[in-house]
Amino acid sequence: MFDPALLGHTAQRQRLLDRAAAGKLGRTLLFTGPDGIGKRRVALELAMRELCFRRTACGSCGGCLAFKSDPLPVELPNLLRIAPEGKAGLIRIGAIRGDDVVEGGVISWAALAPPPACHRLVLIEDAHRLHGPSANILLKVLEEPPPFTRFILVTHRPEAMLQTIRSRAERIPFAPLAPEEAWSIAEKAGWEAKDHGRWTALSEGTLRFLDEGDYARAVAQVAAWIALAKGAAFREAAAPLLPEKDAVLGQGEQLRQALELLLRILSEVARVRAGAPAALAGWEADLRALAASGLAVKPVADLTFEALRHLARNPQADLLLREVALALRPVA
Ligand SMILES: [Zn+2]
Repeated sequence: MFDPALLGHTAQRQRLLDRAAAGKLGRTLLFTGPDGIGKRRVALELAMRELCFRRTACGSCGGCLAFKSDPLPVELPNLLRIAPEGKAGLIRIGAIRGDDVVEGGVISWAALAPPPACHRLVLIEDAHRLHGPSANILLKVLEEPPPFTRFILVTHRPEAMLQTIRSRAERIPFAPLAPEEAWSIAEKAGWEAKDHGRWTALSEGTLRFLDEGDYARAVAQVAAWIALAKGAAFREAAAPLLPEKDAVLGQGEQLRQALELLLRILSEVARVRAGAPAALAGWEADLRALAASGLAVKPVADLTFEALRHLARNPQADLLLREVALALRPVA
Protein backbone atom coordinates (compact mmCIF):
# COMPACT_ATOMS: atom_id res chain seq x y z
CA MET A 1 0.00 0.00 0.00
CA PHE A 2 1.13 3.54 -0.73
CA ASP A 3 0.30 6.37 1.68
CA PRO A 4 1.00 9.92 0.41
CA ALA A 5 0.98 11.19 4.02
CA LEU A 6 4.36 9.50 4.54
CA LEU A 7 6.59 11.54 2.30
CA GLY A 8 8.63 14.58 3.35
CA HIS A 9 10.60 16.40 0.58
CA THR A 10 7.92 19.09 0.38
CA ALA A 11 9.80 21.59 -1.82
CA GLN A 12 11.17 19.02 -4.25
CA ARG A 13 7.73 17.40 -4.65
CA GLN A 14 6.05 20.73 -5.30
CA ARG A 15 8.57 21.52 -8.04
CA LEU A 16 7.96 18.15 -9.68
CA LEU A 17 4.17 18.49 -9.46
CA ASP A 18 4.25 22.02 -10.90
CA ARG A 19 6.41 20.92 -13.79
CA ALA A 20 4.24 17.84 -14.43
CA ALA A 21 1.11 20.03 -14.41
CA ALA A 22 2.73 22.45 -16.85
CA GLY A 23 3.77 19.58 -19.12
CA LYS A 24 7.43 20.41 -18.55
CA LEU A 25 8.63 17.25 -16.88
CA GLY A 26 11.24 15.20 -18.76
CA ARG A 27 10.50 11.77 -20.22
CA THR A 28 13.32 10.08 -18.33
CA LEU A 29 14.06 11.10 -14.78
CA LEU A 30 16.84 9.85 -12.52
CA PHE A 31 15.98 10.20 -8.82
CA THR A 32 19.17 10.13 -6.77
CA GLY A 33 20.01 10.51 -3.07
CA PRO A 34 20.72 8.29 -0.04
CA ASP A 35 19.00 4.95 0.34
CA GLY A 36 15.72 4.90 2.23
CA ILE A 37 14.75 8.58 2.12
CA GLY A 38 11.56 8.05 0.13
CA LYS A 39 12.57 8.69 -3.51
CA ARG A 40 10.46 5.78 -4.72
CA ARG A 41 7.46 7.13 -2.79
CA VAL A 42 7.75 10.49 -4.58
CA ALA A 43 7.61 8.65 -7.92
CA LEU A 44 4.52 6.76 -6.69
CA GLU A 45 2.92 10.05 -5.74
CA LEU A 46 3.39 11.37 -9.29
CA ALA A 47 1.65 8.28 -10.64
CA MET A 48 -1.14 8.44 -8.04
CA ARG A 49 -1.81 12.13 -8.81
CA GLU A 50 -2.34 11.36 -12.46
CA LEU A 51 -4.75 8.52 -11.78
CA CYS A 52 -6.61 10.44 -9.04
CA PHE A 53 -10.02 11.75 -10.20
CA ARG A 54 -9.25 15.01 -8.35
CA ARG A 55 -5.57 15.11 -9.43
CA THR A 56 -4.51 15.53 -5.80
CA ALA A 57 -3.64 11.98 -4.70
CA CYS A 58 -6.66 12.40 -2.40
CA GLY A 59 -6.45 8.77 -1.30
CA SER A 60 -10.20 8.14 -1.42
CA CYS A 61 -11.38 8.26 -5.05
CA GLY A 62 -11.58 5.27 -7.38
CA GLY A 63 -8.28 6.17 -9.04
CA CYS A 64 -6.44 6.42 -5.73
CA LEU A 65 -7.90 3.13 -4.47
CA ALA A 66 -5.66 1.27 -6.92
CA PHE A 67 -2.71 2.47 -4.83
CA LYS A 68 -4.23 1.26 -1.56
CA SER A 69 -3.74 -2.47 -2.14
CA ASP A 70 -1.37 -4.14 0.26
CA PRO A 71 1.11 -5.14 -1.01
CA LEU A 72 1.14 -2.64 -3.83
CA PRO A 73 0.88 -4.59 -7.12
CA VAL A 74 3.73 -4.26 -9.61
CA GLU A 75 1.25 -3.21 -12.28
CA LEU A 76 -1.38 -0.49 -11.93
CA PRO A 77 -3.36 1.14 -14.76
CA ASN A 78 -0.68 3.82 -15.34
CA LEU A 79 2.30 2.38 -13.51
CA LEU A 80 4.70 -0.53 -13.82
CA ARG A 81 7.30 -1.14 -11.13
CA ILE A 82 10.50 -3.03 -11.84
CA ALA A 83 12.78 -4.00 -8.96
CA PRO A 84 15.83 -6.26 -8.50
CA GLU A 85 15.03 -9.88 -7.80
CA GLY A 86 16.58 -13.14 -6.77
CA LYS A 87 19.59 -14.02 -4.66
CA ALA A 88 21.89 -11.77 -6.66
CA GLY A 89 19.39 -8.89 -6.54
CA LEU A 90 19.60 -7.99 -10.23
CA ILE A 91 17.16 -6.59 -12.77
CA ARG A 92 17.44 -9.24 -15.44
CA ILE A 93 16.61 -9.21 -19.10
CA GLY A 94 13.48 -11.29 -18.47
CA ALA A 95 11.98 -8.32 -16.62
CA ILE A 96 12.78 -5.82 -19.37
CA ARG A 97 12.09 -7.82 -22.53
CA GLY A 98 10.57 -11.08 -21.25
CA ASP A 99 7.44 -11.98 -19.31
CA ASP A 100 8.99 -12.03 -15.82
CA VAL A 101 7.09 -9.01 -14.48
CA VAL A 102 4.36 -8.31 -16.99
CA GLU A 103 3.27 -10.11 -20.14
CA GLY A 104 5.38 -8.94 -23.06
CA GLY A 105 7.90 -7.21 -20.78
CA VAL A 106 8.46 -3.56 -19.93
CA ILE A 107 9.07 -2.60 -23.51
CA SER A 108 5.67 -3.73 -24.81
CA TRP A 109 3.92 -2.37 -21.71
CA ALA A 110 5.49 1.07 -22.18
CA ALA A 111 4.22 1.27 -25.75
CA LEU A 112 0.53 0.68 -24.89
CA ALA A 113 -1.89 3.62 -24.79
CA PRO A 114 -2.12 5.19 -21.30
CA PRO A 115 -5.41 5.65 -19.40
CA PRO A 116 -7.16 8.97 -20.29
CA ALA A 117 -5.12 12.09 -19.41
CA CYS A 118 -2.32 9.98 -17.92
CA HIS A 119 1.18 8.95 -18.80
CA ARG A 120 2.40 5.40 -18.64
CA LEU A 121 4.96 5.50 -15.90
CA VAL A 122 7.72 2.91 -15.65
CA LEU A 123 9.39 3.02 -12.24
CA ILE A 124 12.73 1.25 -12.07
CA GLU A 125 13.77 0.77 -8.45
CA ASP A 126 17.46 0.38 -7.55
CA ALA A 127 18.33 1.15 -11.16
CA HIS A 128 22.04 0.51 -10.45
CA ARG A 129 21.07 -3.18 -10.24
CA LEU A 130 20.21 -3.30 -13.95
CA HIS A 131 22.15 -6.24 -15.32
CA GLY A 132 24.41 -5.32 -18.32
CA PRO A 133 22.18 -6.72 -21.12
CA SER A 134 19.02 -5.32 -19.49
CA ALA A 135 20.62 -1.89 -19.29
CA ASN A 136 21.51 -1.98 -22.97
CA ILE A 137 17.99 -2.89 -24.03
CA LEU A 138 16.52 -0.24 -21.78
CA LEU A 139 18.89 2.31 -23.24
CA LYS A 140 17.47 1.70 -26.71
CA VAL A 141 13.96 2.45 -25.38
CA LEU A 142 15.14 5.57 -23.57
CA GLU A 143 16.69 6.87 -26.77
CA GLU A 144 13.25 6.88 -28.36
CA PRO A 145 10.59 6.51 -25.66
CA PRO A 146 7.03 5.78 -26.76
CA PRO A 147 4.74 8.85 -26.64
CA PHE A 148 3.03 9.45 -23.26
CA THR A 149 5.47 7.21 -21.43
CA ARG A 150 7.73 8.41 -18.66
CA PHE A 151 10.58 6.47 -17.07
CA ILE A 152 11.66 7.16 -13.50
CA LEU A 153 14.90 5.48 -12.49
CA VAL A 154 15.56 5.50 -8.76
CA THR A 155 19.00 4.85 -7.29
CA HIS A 156 21.30 5.65 -4.39
CA ARG A 157 24.30 4.62 -6.47
CA PRO A 158 24.12 6.53 -9.79
CA GLU A 159 27.87 6.08 -10.31
CA ALA A 160 27.26 2.33 -10.71
CA MET A 161 24.92 2.89 -13.66
CA LEU A 162 25.69 2.88 -17.34
CA GLN A 163 26.92 6.37 -18.24
CA THR A 164 24.87 6.29 -21.44
CA ILE A 165 21.67 5.78 -19.43
CA ARG A 166 22.57 8.52 -16.94
CA SER A 167 23.20 10.99 -19.73
CA ARG A 168 19.74 10.27 -21.22
CA ALA A 169 17.99 11.14 -17.98
CA GLU A 170 17.30 14.36 -16.15
CA ARG A 171 18.78 14.03 -12.68
CA ILE A 172 16.55 14.97 -9.74
CA PRO A 173 18.61 14.91 -6.52
CA PHE A 174 17.02 14.29 -3.12
CA ALA A 175 18.60 15.28 0.19
CA PRO A 176 18.32 13.19 3.37
CA LEU A 177 15.46 14.16 5.64
CA ALA A 178 16.15 16.07 8.85
CA PRO A 179 15.99 13.52 11.73
CA GLU A 180 12.90 15.16 13.22
CA GLU A 181 11.23 15.31 9.80
CA ALA A 182 11.82 11.56 9.45
CA TRP A 183 10.41 11.04 12.95
CA SER A 184 7.27 13.08 12.22
CA ILE A 185 6.64 10.78 9.23
CA ALA A 186 7.25 7.76 11.50
CA GLU A 187 4.67 9.10 13.97
CA LYS A 188 2.10 9.36 11.17
CA ALA A 189 2.88 5.73 10.38
CA GLY A 190 2.05 4.77 13.98
CA TRP A 191 5.42 4.87 15.78
CA GLU A 192 5.20 5.83 19.44
CA ALA A 193 7.26 8.26 21.51
CA LYS A 194 8.93 5.44 23.46
CA ASP A 195 10.77 4.39 20.27
CA HIS A 196 11.86 7.91 19.33
CA GLY A 197 15.46 7.66 20.56
CA ARG A 198 16.48 4.36 18.99
CA TRP A 199 14.42 4.82 15.84
CA THR A 200 15.90 8.27 15.13
CA ALA A 201 19.44 7.15 15.98
CA LEU A 202 19.25 4.10 13.69
CA SER A 203 17.44 5.83 10.84
CA GLU A 204 19.80 8.83 10.43
CA GLY A 205 17.28 10.92 8.51
CA THR A 206 15.98 8.06 6.36
CA LEU A 207 12.73 6.10 6.29
CA ARG A 208 14.53 2.76 6.11
CA PHE A 209 12.96 1.58 9.36
CA LEU A 210 9.40 2.75 8.85
CA ASP A 211 8.47 -0.92 8.63
CA GLU A 212 8.40 -2.50 12.07
CA GLY A 213 9.98 -5.73 10.86
CA ASP A 214 12.93 -3.90 9.29
CA TYR A 215 13.42 -1.91 12.48
CA ALA A 216 13.23 -4.99 14.71
CA ARG A 217 15.80 -6.68 12.50
CA ALA A 218 18.22 -3.73 12.74
CA VAL A 219 17.81 -3.63 16.53
CA ALA A 220 18.51 -7.37 16.69
CA GLN A 221 21.57 -6.88 14.49
CA VAL A 222 23.01 -4.17 16.72
CA ALA A 223 22.48 -6.50 19.71
CA ALA A 224 24.14 -9.36 17.81
CA TRP A 225 27.25 -7.32 16.94
CA ILE A 226 27.53 -6.12 20.54
CA ALA A 227 27.17 -9.69 21.83
CA LEU A 228 29.86 -10.92 19.43
CA ALA A 229 32.19 -8.10 20.46
CA LYS A 230 31.67 -9.17 24.07
CA GLY A 231 32.70 -12.72 23.23
CA ALA A 232 29.48 -14.60 22.37
CA ALA A 233 29.90 -17.62 20.09
CA PHE A 234 29.10 -17.01 16.42
CA ARG A 235 26.50 -19.77 16.20
CA GLU A 236 24.68 -18.44 19.27
CA ALA A 237 24.68 -14.73 18.47
CA ALA A 238 24.93 -14.30 14.70
CA ALA A 239 21.49 -15.46 13.53
CA PRO A 240 20.06 -11.92 13.05
CA LEU A 241 23.08 -11.01 10.89
CA LEU A 242 22.65 -13.83 8.38
CA PRO A 243 20.52 -13.12 5.29
CA GLU A 244 16.97 -14.45 5.15
CA LYS A 245 16.38 -16.62 2.12
CA ASP A 246 12.95 -15.39 1.05
CA ALA A 247 13.36 -11.70 1.93
CA VAL A 248 12.56 -9.01 -0.64
CA LEU A 249 16.14 -7.72 -0.49
CA GLY A 250 18.86 -9.75 -2.19
CA GLN A 251 21.22 -11.59 0.18
CA GLY A 252 24.10 -9.26 -0.67
CA GLU A 253 22.01 -6.20 0.24
CA GLN A 254 20.98 -7.80 3.53
CA LEU A 255 24.61 -8.48 4.42
CA ARG A 256 25.51 -4.93 3.42
CA GLN A 257 23.02 -3.58 5.95
CA ALA A 258 24.42 -5.79 8.70
CA LEU A 259 28.01 -4.77 7.93
CA GLU A 260 27.11 -1.08 7.72
CA LEU A 261 25.57 -1.32 11.19
CA LEU A 262 28.84 -2.76 12.48
CA LEU A 263 30.73 0.22 10.98
CA ARG A 264 28.31 2.47 12.80
CA ILE A 265 28.99 0.69 16.12
CA LEU A 266 32.75 0.84 15.57
CA SER A 267 32.68 4.56 14.86
CA GLU A 268 30.57 5.07 17.99
CA VAL A 269 33.15 3.16 20.07
CA ALA A 270 35.87 5.39 18.64
CA ARG A 271 33.81 8.48 19.49
CA VAL A 272 33.28 7.38 23.07
CA ARG A 273 37.00 6.66 23.44
CA ALA A 274 37.71 10.17 22.18
CA GLY A 275 35.52 11.52 24.99
CA ALA A 276 32.37 12.31 22.97
CA PRO A 277 28.94 11.06 24.04
CA ALA A 278 27.55 8.07 22.11
CA ALA A 279 25.17 9.21 19.37
CA LEU A 280 23.52 5.81 19.02
CA ALA A 281 20.81 6.52 21.57
CA GLY A 282 19.55 3.51 23.49
CA TRP A 283 22.84 1.58 23.44
CA GLU A 284 24.98 4.00 25.48
CA ALA A 285 25.88 1.55 28.25
CA ASP A 286 26.94 -1.19 25.80
CA LEU A 287 28.99 1.28 23.78
CA ARG A 288 30.76 2.53 26.89
CA ALA A 289 31.53 -1.08 27.88
CA LEU A 290 32.98 -1.79 24.42
CA ALA A 291 34.99 1.45 24.52
CA ALA A 292 36.50 0.28 27.81
CA SER A 293 37.32 -3.15 26.35
CA GLY A 294 40.29 -4.14 24.23
CA LEU A 295 38.27 -3.98 20.98
CA ALA A 296 40.63 -3.01 18.15
CA VAL A 297 38.42 -0.67 16.12
CA LYS A 298 40.68 0.02 13.15
CA PRO A 299 41.54 -3.55 12.05
CA VAL A 300 37.90 -4.67 12.36
CA ALA A 301 36.72 -1.61 10.42
CA ASP A 302 39.31 -2.26 7.69
CA LEU A 303 38.15 -5.86 7.40
CA THR A 304 34.51 -4.73 7.28
CA PHE A 305 35.23 -2.27 4.44
CA GLU A 306 37.06 -5.08 2.66
CA ALA A 307 34.04 -7.37 3.07
CA LEU A 308 31.72 -4.64 1.75
CA ARG A 309 33.91 -4.23 -1.32
CA HIS A 310 33.77 -7.96 -2.09
CA LEU A 311 30.10 -8.40 -1.31
CA ALA A 312 28.75 -7.87 -4.82
CA ARG A 313 30.92 -10.52 -6.42
CA ASN A 314 31.08 -13.06 -3.65
CA PRO A 315 28.77 -16.05 -3.93
CA GLN A 316 29.45 -17.05 -0.32
CA ALA A 317 29.13 -13.64 1.19
CA ASP A 318 28.07 -15.02 4.57
CA LEU A 319 31.60 -16.36 5.00
CA LEU A 320 32.81 -12.75 4.83
CA LEU A 321 30.44 -11.97 7.69
CA ARG A 322 31.84 -14.83 9.75
CA GLU A 323 35.38 -13.58 9.15
CA VAL A 324 34.44 -10.10 10.38
CA ALA A 325 32.65 -11.55 13.41
CA LEU A 326 35.72 -13.58 14.37
CA ALA A 327 37.96 -10.52 14.14
CA LEU A 328 35.55 -8.71 16.46
CA ARG A 329 35.83 -11.23 19.28
CA PRO A 330 37.88 -10.26 22.32
CA VAL A 331 41.36 -11.75 22.42
CA ALA A 332 41.49 -14.39 25.13
ZN1 LIG B 1 -7.94 10.51 -5.61
